[in-house]
Amino acid sequence: MVASQIITDVTELEAVVCSTEIPIVQYLQDRPSLHAIITEQGGILYVNDNLRMLKQLLRVVKETLGVEPQLREISESVYQSFTQARQLLQKRPNKRREVSRNKSVEELLARAIDSEVSDIHLHAWQDSFIEGSGIKDNIGRHATSSWIRFRKHQTLVNEARISYEEAYGIYRAAFTGEPYGCANIDDRRGNDASFQHPYKGQTYLVRLASVPEARGTSMTFRIRNAKDSVQLTDCGYSNKQLAIIQRFVKNNGGLLVVGGPTNSGKSTTLTAFLDAMQNKAILSYEDPVEVLLPEVSHIQIRRDCIDAEQTIRELMLQTMRMDPDVINVGELRDELMVSFAKEKATEGKLTTGTTHCGKIIMCFTRLLQLGISVEELAAPDTLMGVICQKLVPVSCPHCALSEHPDPQQQAYYQTHLGGELRYRNPEGCNACDYSGISGQTLVSEAVEINRTIRELISQQSWDGIIDYFWEHQIDTLHIDALKKVQIGLLDPTLVEQRIDRFSVENLRHHWQPQSHDTGEAIAC
Ligand SMILES: [Zn+2]
Repeated sequence: MVASQIITDVTELEAVVCSTEIPIVQYLQDRPSLHAIITEQGGILYVNDNLRMLKQLLRVVKETLGVEPQLREISESVYQSFTQARQLLQKRPNKRREVSRNKSVEELLARAIDSEVSDIHLHAWQDSFIEGSGIKDNIGRHATSSWIRFRKHQTLVNEARISYEEAYGIYRAAFTGEPYGCANIDDRRGNDASFQHPYKGQTYLVRLASVPEARGTSMTFRIRNAKDSVQLTDCGYSNKQLAIIQRFVKNNGGLLVVGGPTNSGKSTTLTAFLDAMQNKAILSYEDPVEVLLPEVSHIQIRRDCIDAEQTIRELMLQTMRMDPDVINVGELRDELMVSFAKEKATEGKLTTGTTHCGKIIMCFTRLLQLGISVEELAAPDTLMGVICQKLVPVSCPHCALSEHPDPQQQAYYQTHLGGELRYRNPEGCNACDYSGISGQTLVSEAVEINRTIRELISQQSWDGIIDYFWEHQIDTLHIDALKKVQIGLLDPTLVEQRIDRFSVENLRHHWQPQSHDTGEAIAC
């Protein structure tokens, strides 16, 4: 028998069954005394109630499918709810048993996943709306304005121009098609949906969003691998920040806020954070669930239903009976989520949540806007820490330039930043697919909320907190990025575009405020 963990969660069972390349489940019709699910690949998910029958089943599967069966035990209740759900699905009127996958959607997703793309942007725009734009095809018609772009390593690149009909077809099929979003959509409104997409033996979670646009519809596909969890040590934090974050893992109680814009690796950080916990009961509220961890109960929050707030409130009350030690509340987007997070943190549950704030100070003010009082925020048992982060493209090491094309700019950077500066080569090379970019790295700031910071919060002295950071050499996002610039990993121009300018004023303030000779101070 294979000694792997018993599956007690129906979501996990769904993920295991769907992670096979052909996710068709064969039920064992002629063995009513044995409860088991057999996948096409020879996986046997069994309820441990008749081991004698299981041995027979092993032999049958091996002979029939010609593969070594993979055993995994599941709980009786999970087996029951899974099979009942499948049977209901089959009995539903007007639903076909076999679903037909849309060729254009399949091809688009395959192309994106093969190229390690994180997001697809699809614009189903009609030509008639851009008359006068001057773009015409060779027989004088206005050229198509429907197009696809891929985001890879934070950079958007044009993928293809397609006809409006094809673009609109992909949009409709992805949202409404049975293996995909299965959603009722309205072209005049924004729409949301998500689905699991099996591809080359892996399961990808695809989240769809659309908005009506003056020329038609714009939509995005966000693609994540369901098994794509990383270790905290591989997220890209500096050793100093990693030490702080590892102390957060050991905390009992208190709120940890992770801030950053969309696509800044917040979910990856929280997944790694929860994965680093040991022997804890962990509940994670997600919208949608993107990565499945073996020791975490992932709970899908739905905001697209009528009376979503009441539904979420009831779900939270219900799940609290599961006696969690750690709770991830997901995005701290409204007063409901913030008050829930605050309540749980002060009850002694280690609580985590995310915001779209780019800097630590902004996280404090955001929490105040969302209904936490200054006294609560400055109380010893509420906020334990804040991490803010961003992903910045890394220059390709094979083709990066050692000189900036503008000699004046080169002299400025060399004087004020020092180190081994490297600049992105706009021509690129074979190794980086002629983009000049070879990936992306995290830049971040992390702080433990101590007594001094709490006092400064209670006085709402945000400048005082910034001063405290540089007096105590707590690296800000800007300084963390500067350190990666000085070793040639990041192009200073890209950092200036995405984070902040390397102005003498900025550097003096953060780097060595006492010095009058800025160039010297920065170089040392
Ligand atoms: Zn290159």
